[in-house]
Amino acid sequence: MSEKEVGAETREFGFATRAVHAGARPEPTTGARATPIFQTTSYVFEDPEAAAAYFNLQEYGNTYSRIMNPTVAAFEERIANLEGGVGAVAFASGLAAQAGAFFTALQPGDHVVASRALYGGTLTQIKHLERKLGFRVTFVDPDDPGHWREAVRPETRLFFGETIGNPGGNVLDIESVAEIAHRQGVPLMVDSTFATPYLCRPLEWGADIVVHSTTKFIGGHGNSIGGVVVESGRFPWDNGKFPGIADPSPAYHGLAFQATFGEYGFLMKLRAETLRDLGACMSPFNAFLFGLGAETLPLRMERHTANALEIATFLTGRPEVETVAHPGLPGSRYAPLVAKYLPRGAGSVFSFDLKGGRRAGARFIRELNLFSHLANVGDAKSLVIHPASTTHRQLDDEELRGAGISPGTIRLSVGIEDPRDLIWDLTRGLEAAAAPGSEDDEAPTGEAMACPL
Ligand SMILES: *Cc1c(COP(=O)(O)O)cnc(C)c1O
Repeated sequence: MSEKEVGAETREFGFATRAVHAGARPEPTTGARATPIFQTTSYVFEDPEAAAAYFNLQEYGNTYSRIMNPTVAAFEERIANLEGGVGAVAFASGLAAQAGAFFTALQPGDHVVASRALYGGTLTQIKHLERKLGFRVTFVDPDDPGHWREAVRPETRLFFGETIGNPGGNVLDIESVAEIAHRQGVPLMVDSTFATPYLCRPLEWGADIVVHSTTKFIGGHGNSIGGVVVESGRFPWDNGKFPGIADPSPAYHGLAFQATFGEYGFLMKLRAETLRDLGACMSPFNAFLFGLGAETLPLRMERHTANALEIATFLTGRPEVETVAHPGLPGSRYAPLVAKYLPRGAGSVFSFDLKGGRRAGARFIRELNLFSHLANVGDAKSLVIHPASTTHRQLDDEELRGAGISPGTIRLSVGIEDPRDLIWDLTRGLEAAAAPGSEDDEAPTGEAMACPL
């Protein structure tokens, strides 16, 4: 964010200002004010010497869009700024971003301590990568810092949790868990997708790496898949436990990332080796959309969280509802952590349990009109899913409970519509769920889900 552009030298700009300006400056050749979509694979070198310097990482310059692209760079700079990190590397998806962080930080034989309440796709990813890449993971109850401490082994190299988990709405005690990680000389990585930097900035509480699925609230409109890794620049990767980052890299003629790039050591390795080799880069067009999404992130998150809390409160008062797992509700076991880490609100993705199990869940979903029945979160549009009849349909009731889901669990991602209309829609669903009727337990049909607008 250039000082010249905004006419102040030392001013610390607020979040909403940075959401609009960080990373973006008028394009110098044309004066274009919006960041252009640099839809190019490659960049003409000034001369052979410049080309050599770029490829040797002696100078930082555009070579090939698998590794860097100006539209993607503008987005990376914006997110790094909003999270308070030293830099960021964008990826093709949230899972690619996480895989990138694992590849960069870990070696075969290393051990990871991870929350067992991670996003389902992440749990599956970790279980597969664990076998293929030869690292081991211990999953812990994230709510008790003692469990993190007890799981540590001599070969532990990473802690991994989520700011807000699902379906239980677990809020991570980032400061305590980071302290335990640091005492062991290992970094804490936090998936902050559900919180976004507007609600919580884990790096300010001691986390070292933040990952996002930008597919969700940062993009905000359910139109693109993407991810990003942000790093604080403060973790001592040269503490003897991370030879992959501290030792000379054979891939760059013996260049040692940490010694050469200092606070950028991890990020340079992430980009110049991991992203180069995995190839899962963010496209310039998606980076354009995510940058646009970030501009309205503060406005949308305010509305998302207000709507979600209003709906959670409404649901707690309904006779068809057994329990509501929104961490922002008064009386939630996470209330002290919400007050500390999420003072602006506890997000807009939460679960509740319907009385009446699978059948009630299917009937509820079938009746909804505004809420779209699909497998995503963080869209401006309200979304709903009934895990027992969809993503977890193959599990019996006992297996479901093991995953923290009951047959009547419904997950909502509350959008930014008029909350009265959302409550109207949910009321119709609740009445249908509780209505006496046939014992049919069909999966919801596509037509019934179609939005009337
Ligand atoms: C969606 C999601 C991911 C995975 O991101 P993709 O962009 O779908 O690869 C990871 N973590 C959380 C919390 C998510 O919601």
